[in-house]
Amino acid sequence: MTRFTDRPDSTPDAPRPVQLRSALDELPSYRPGRPAPASGERPAFKVSSNENPYPPLPGVVEAAVSAAAEMNRYPDMFASGLVAVLADRLGVPPEHLATGTGSVGVLQQIVQATTGEGDEVVYAWRSFEAYPIVVGISGARSVRVPLAPGARHDLDAMAAAVTDRTRLVLVCSPNNPTGPVVGHDELAAFVRRVPEDVLVVVDEAYREFVRDPDGADGLALYREHPNVCVLRTFSKAYGLAGLRVGYAVAHERVADALRKTAVPFGVSGVAQRAAVESLAHEDALLERVEALVAERTRVREALLSQGWDVPVTHANFVWLALGERTTDFAAHCEAHGLVVRPFAGEGCRVTIGEQEANDRFIQLASDWP
Ligand SMILES: *Cc1c(COP(=O)(O)O)cnc(C)c1O
Repeated sequence: MTRFTDRPDSTPDAPRPVQLRSALDELPSYRPGRPAPASGERPAFKVSSNENPYPPLPGVVEAAVSAAAEMNRYPDMFASGLVAVLADRLGVPPEHLATGTGSVGVLQQIVQATTGEGDEVVYAWRSFEAYPIVVGISGARSVRVPLAPGARHDLDAMAAAVTDRTRLVLVCSPNNPTGPVVGHDELAAFVRRVPEDVLVVVDEAYREFVRDPDGADGLALYREHPNVCVLRTFSKAYGLAGLRVGYAVAHERVADALRKTAVPFGVSGVAQRAAVESLAHEDALLERVEALVAERTRVREALLSQGWDVPVTHANFVWLALGERTTDFAAHCEAHGLVVRPFAGEGCRVTIGEQEANDRFIQLASDWP
């Protein structure tokens, strides 16, 4: 009998490491926002992950708890209850919806459905930090197009970056972490320039916070173009970040592919029911979003009057392009109980949170030399 330790190629003192795909070697790991540190008398605030500071909408916890009583069963695999409500609201056929574990989960489904080794994915940079990770895992190559002045997408340069290896283009509007939206007309012109067999994803994670009437309307473009897909989430405005539920609106061929590449039963029954219940409380949702938008205006104006250069923002955060001083500023904030999100060498993203957190941020920004 052969014991596996007897294999001729095994050396007892130098076990060979498990073979992993080389695509993972250069992949950055996703870094979650640091939790707020325990600080003496004053409460500390985590404004590093663009979370909603409000608790879940009315009735949502109750709906989630009642769904939790059925956790011995697998959930509805295609979230058909949630899909029916969304299809009705958005005026799209239910077959055009695909759900996933947060919109990052859906994005992973999209990348798996469209790309493989050697293919190219075009997106702006800096943009959402999950993009290079999700693209890298598939073995595809990220083609990053630098932002234009004002921290906006440079759609001309992005169109020029599309080659015959391009399978996917990601457009983040409003852009995380800088804040500006992509204009509707410029995006429409861009989509006309992209080959019709290349999928264009409009990531609208912050759409509820947009107040620019000229901002891109991904759904309108999806209605006109079979190669446009819209990505949305319950994590930000709806405050369900911890439950992991997001969706894509796409034409049937694409939506079908996204259902195929989904983790089976990934969206829990608790998440499905909480999302349905959240959709039933639009007025409360809009009130909260409106209050956050008002706070966003207050914070940005305070920073501008302190002399900071802050890009226009239509999301629930502001961007300070601090360059080399980024990590020092983040440390200064953290020392005073405010955890922001530094991108070393570039800038800090600060989420609009509860009023007290925003007040503290304004004060810390003003104290900064
Ligand atoms: C937060 C965010 C998402 C969604 O995150 P999920 O929690 O996975 O739904 C998607 N895109 C952008 C740009 C984001 O900032």
